[in-house]
Amino acid sequence: QGIVSLQQINKYYGNFHALKDISLEIAQGEVVAILGPSGSGKSTLIRCINYLEPYEQGDIYVDRIRVQPGPELIEVRKDVGMVFQSFNLFPNMTVLENITLGPIRVRGMSREQAEDRAKELLEKVGIAEQMHKYPGALSGGQQQRVGIARALANEPRVLLFDEPTSALDPEMVGEVLDVIKTLADTGVTMLLVTHEMGFARHVADRIIFMEAGQVVEEGAPELIFSKP
Ligand code: ADP
Ligand code: ADP
Repeated sequence: QGIVSLQQINKYYGNFHALKDISLEIAQGEVVAILGPSGSGKSTLIRCINYLEPYEQGDIYVDRIRVQPGPELIEVRKDVGMVFQSFNLFPNMTVLENITLGPIRVRGMSREQAEDRAKELLEKVGIAEQMHKYPGALSGGQQQRVGIARALANEPRVLLFDEPTSALDPEMVGEVLDVIKTLADTGVTMLLVTHEMGFARHVADRIIFMEAGQVVEEGAPELIFSKP
């Protein structure tokens, strides 16, 4: 079983069948890009992995823990970091506070420990100078780099990205993709919903194409992109 395992997942919004019998095994360290038209279920799929969306049928496991409501969900969420399209930062907390919140609450770290770790992460994503500012004072690209640092703060084994560059002005896309590429090279397991084809092609180990709630194509980038 992979570090992320989806077994015959079905998900409905009312009568609408959003995910149709999806099975996927994601190996440790694998970088998987999920592509497909708007409304095909990409975001729903990755949101089921940390149970931000409930699913009705099938099983999802992260690191062999079943993703379901209850005490195990805390363990799953420690292991799974998420980066959102619209950053989802707390506007009334500084950058540093946004990042230390999780480790203090979820990991039970001391404030001092959490701040040391946060500063390291902010160095890594290149925004250490901004740490005492509020998110609203930052550019979109900077905010998303905070979002990535926050997702890393709990030392997750899996990172989920839901169109991390779609809300950015074009000139900021590159700086965020560079950070994601650096992370991919460090061996963290990643699932990335994106419209950045070039990035997917060069960075992903595997491409998954979705259409109308189904996986319609999957394989190594060189196979997928060489098809006529
Ligand atoms: P994608 O990420 O590929 O654009 P989504 O996973 O966001 O697709 O959505 C898949 C389908 O499910 C779409 O048709 C969308 O309208 C529908 N959908 C998403 N969220 C909800 C919701 N909360 N309630 C009802 N329908 C939803
Ligand atoms: P948009 O979604 O309009 O392209 P961004 O994603 O670039 O905006 O920015 C997200 C938020 O950050 C917006 O509320 C925007 O007003 C703010 N913002 C963007 N760039 C700056 C900047 N250079 N200085 C201050 N605030 C900014």
